[in-house]
Amino acid sequence: SRPVMLSVHIYPYGVGRHLLLARDITALEQAEAMRRDFVANVSHEIRTPLTVLVGFVETLQTLDLSPEEHKHYLALMAQQAGRMQNLVQDLLTLSRLEGSPPPTYNDWFPVGQMLRQCAVEAHALSKLLTKGADVGHALSFPEPEAPAMDWEIAGVQAELISAFSNLISNALRYTPAGGSVEVRWEGLLDGGARFSVKDSGPGIDPAHIGRLTERFYRVDRSRSRDTGGTGLGLAIVKHALQRHGAKLEIHSQLGAGATFSAVFPAHRLRHSGRVHAEPER
Ligand code: ADP
Repeated sequence: SRPVMLSVHIYPYGVGRHLLLARDITALEQAEAMRRDFVANVSHEIRTPLTVLVGFVETLQTLDLSPEEHKHYLALMAQQAGRMQNLVQDLLTLSRLEGSPPPTYNDWFPVGQMLRQCAVEAHALSKLLTKGADVGHALSFPEPEAPAMDWEIAGVQAELISAFSNLISNALRYTPAGGSVEVRWEGLLDGGARFSVKDSGPGIDPAHIGRLTERFYRVDRSRSRDTGGTGLGLAIVKHALQRHGAKLEIHSQLGAGATFSAVFPAHRLRHSGRVHAEPER
């Protein structure tokens, strides 16, 4: 049983009688608490890099630094500014997702082409993350020309690509050099399809899994931060998928890698020119 919050009003009603009006405001109260938490979190996330940035500015203003030292501080400042930029970018993405009407069935996008775009980004990111290591990531994508890729999804292409590449970038960011990341697309028996990203990284304690899509929820704060994470990635993914009727599934064990999948319903897909019946909308 969950706690219930009631708003109670008592009105005099006739002689010696009272009318009692009680309203369940639990949901309202919870929404308000969530909004407060969110604002507090955003403020904290901005304050941290801002404090560091202001500190560096003061250092540059007061100390007589060599050109090398100067350069070093500027690089650190750029890093903090970049963090704030990522945060603002993700906040805007989230609010755009929340504020826009549901995706229509007017635009269909080839899955193969979307995955090709993700693959280009993934290889570049992997290179960046494993710079200096002896071996990079073993990164595998489905062959874009394979018949299994012959699907189209209805919706907003940019949102879906951003969801897919968020999952791929997480896999790469949390999996150390030498590990593997495998991206798959497979048709399901019920006519739906599954996009999945499987990594050989550190994995996630199942106790955390249910909360990963909450805004700013992070298991490993420093790893997240060191690789440019904002803590909003999976919240964005969940939202973008939800809008397309797709579900995010997370399977993981600590020390045994993680698999994140997006499961699409049949009505968002069409295959080999065969058009599925569109649902009532
Ligand atoms: P972040 O910007 O911190 O990566 P996300 O919302 O994308 O934010 O992810 C939330 C948290 O989920 C991360 O901080 C990390 O602890 C965990 N996580 C996400 N993807 C993976 C993964 N592939 N392997 C291990 N942990 C992951």
